[in-house]
Amino acid sequence: MEERLLKVLACPACRSGLEKKGQELVCASCRKGYPVNADGQAILLTGPRLEDLEESAEAIRQKSSLHQFYRRHQQSRLLNTVRKIIRPLTSGILFVYLRRSESALKTLFPGAGAEKVVIDVGAGNNPIHPDAFTLDLYQESGADIIARIENLPFADNSLDGLVSCGVIEHLKNPWKTAEEMKRVVKPGGYIYAEIPLLQGIHYNPFDEQRFTPDGLETLFQPLITVEKGVASGPGSALAHLLPIWLAMILSFRSKILYEMLFLFFSWITFPIKYTDFFLLNHPEIHRAPFGVYYFGRKQS
Ligand SMILES: [Zn+2]
Repeated sequence: MEERLLKVLACPACRSGLEKKGQELVCASCRKGYPVNADGQAILLTGPRLEDLEESAEAIRQKSSLHQFYRRHQQSRLLNTVRKIIRPLTSGILFVYLRRSESALKTLFPGAGAEKVVIDVGAGNNPIHPDAFTLDLYQESGADIIARIENLPFADNSLDGLVSCGVIEHLKNPWKTAEEMKRVVKPGGYIYAEIPLLQGIHYNPFDEQRFTPDGLETLFQPLITVEKGVASGPGSALAHLLPIWLAMILSFRSKILYEMLFLFFSWITFPIKYTDFFLLNHPEIHRAPFGVYYFGRKQS
């Protein structure tokens, strides 16, 4: 574990500093030990067991037929190979054309030797930038730190930056969690958040919130807004909604037919997302954002 990361870590139970002792991080105050597993992941969890959480998450996943469909096919080796080949062609997600805040990326990741500590929460092993550390709830995600976003294992005012992309919509209590995110960022540090707006409900395993750029600004008050706006536009929204609409119209209430048609029409309609390349500069872009972002600084 990198020294600069160890410096900002704090016990999730009592917020005191942690010391590395063998394969464990031990709290200097309450002496609670947290394992570092063979992959180098620090497991900084308190409260209910992760297995219990997984069970309830699984129950909710079952409610989503789409999720069931993907889960079934995740086990198919052939489909995984096909996915690997098509992924670079469709920039990861089939229907989204994404333009992140350049000023946020430049500020948070100024380049080699910067030694900043920026944490990408809910990123799995796919951070917004290679210089970011990752935090996630599930060990299978491959993140550097396994912890709850509602109880971040960092000292007060310790991080240079915190990034959250596609996470806030899954929160039960975004207001409380935003307070926690603001707590761990140091004065003069930054929070960058992206969230879908005109996207259908995606159980992953929960989907409970949507925010506009102004809503995110209110959520992260009293941070000073550096930038807020639209990260993906109506092209992405249409490429997302059209296959759903077409599959619904033509599937006559058959779930299986719906899934097949949805996949088929997704492939037909995904190029519509590229119209966002031009539309993101349109003065009326705020009328139909597929996704929005907020970039703010904590008062120094
Ligand atoms: Zn402690």
